[in-house]
Amino acid sequence: MTHDISRRSFLRNTALSTAGLMLGGSVAGCSSQAESGSSSDYLINIMEKVRRYRKINSHAHIGLSVGGPEDQIDFANRLGIDISVISRPVTTMDSSPELFRKNNDLIMSAVEQFPDRFIGQMTVDPTYQEESLEEMDRCVDRGMVGLKLYKQVKINDPLLYPIIEKCIDLNMVILMHSGPDVTRIGPEYGTLDPPSLSIPEDFVDIAERYPEAMFQFAHLGGGLDWEYACKALRDSPNVYVDVSGSNNEQNIINFAVEHLGEDRVLYGGDLNPYTGVGSMFSAVLNEGQREKIFFENYNNILKKGGYHVS
Ligand SMILES: [Zn+2]
Repeated sequence: MTHDISRRSFLRNTALSTAGLMLGGSVAGCSSQAESGSSSDYLINIMEKVRRYRKINSHAHIGLSVGGPEDQIDFANRLGIDISVISRPVTTMDSSPELFRKNNDLIMSAVEQFPDRFIGQMTVDPTYQEESLEEMDRCVDRGMVGLKLYKQVKINDPLLYPIIEKCIDLNMVILMHSGPDVTRIGPEYGTLDPPSLSIPEDFVDIAERYPEAMFQFAHLGGGLDWEYACKALRDSPNVYVDVSGSNNEQNIINFAVEHLGEDRVLYGGDLNPYTGVGSMFSAVLNEGQREKIFFENYNNILKKGGYHVS
């Protein structure tokens, strides 16, 4: 840790993080105390404050543990999320074109169901390069914006070059899964990930090769060493980070803003949309920074291709 945390700030931030978790309980429908008024004013005030900010959830899924489209909309309504950028990556190593087409169909039908609330992101597996490029055409024709990749190949694998070049032509961001690698949980945890998992250095490499491309380093709160990742990505201006993940460890967002700047940090929910919201209120941010991270930064990414929210 490069930051000394005073006991006072630790207690203040812990209280807010806990509020975030309680907010999560309320969001998940386990408790509606905060909304019914029977809980403390403190929590009610937090919910009012939460809803005051426009939000784009830059990392959301359908068909993973959050559930179906209605479940994602339910989370969004409770947290005041205007737009959720949804995808359904193939999360197994043995994928197939049939599987990623099926997953993209799922996303396209969710967007058709809630066109004002969802932006659909396509997924492919570059191992099937030709089929992936064809699938991207099909998805873009159907209105999908952006690409979500998993860990079948690294972000800087040459198999991805034509796919990245297509995203550059379309001005679309590429959201890539990242993993613990160097982890705080224990060295044995990292061995669960395959060698094809993208680590921060892989993002640095590909961002340098394609400076016109936009990359989103997934879930800074996903269990990886976020200090290490932020330091590694510091000089890669075309790499954004989203703050999703179940790790609401103190100081993640402030550290990211300090090292990457306030324009490269994005609110994201991934499998637990409430944790990121809670973390956003435990972070020490000014109004402008909160507005940027919750909404403006991602909308600026969308703006580059003309897909933004008005
Ligand atoms: Zn994800």
